[in-house]
Amino acid sequence: MTGDCPLCLAKGVELRHSHFMPKSLYALFRTGDLEPVRFSRDAIYPTSKQEKDYVFCADCEQCFNREGENWIRPLLPDVGGPFPLRNRLLKQAPVRVLRPSSAASSGVVK
Ligand SMILES: [Zn+2]
Repeated sequence: MTGDCPLCLAKGVELRHSHFMPKSLYALFRTGDLEPVRFSRDAIYPTSKQEKDYVFCADCEQCFNREGENWIRPLLPDVGGPFPLRNRLLKQAPVRVLRPSSAASSGVVK
């Protein structure tokens, strides 16, 4: 399917049939016979369906894989397993600390 890529704005390019959420993450949401739960405006139900659509061009899709999914997936936990990303974050100093009163009064989290 051809179309316009909303990320790089390329016109009339081949669009990839992409998962909305990385395919490798679906396994994280299953335990035993239980499927992930889908929430919509009209219904809530378990489903094994993986949402996909033709949205991004091959270059942008590769960017998501290379710069996102490929490095983050090994840092996420399997059910009951270690959570390497959490462990890394706990070792880092915060970039910025907001006092609860200042964040609440401004209504903006910076
Ligand atoms: Zn693109």
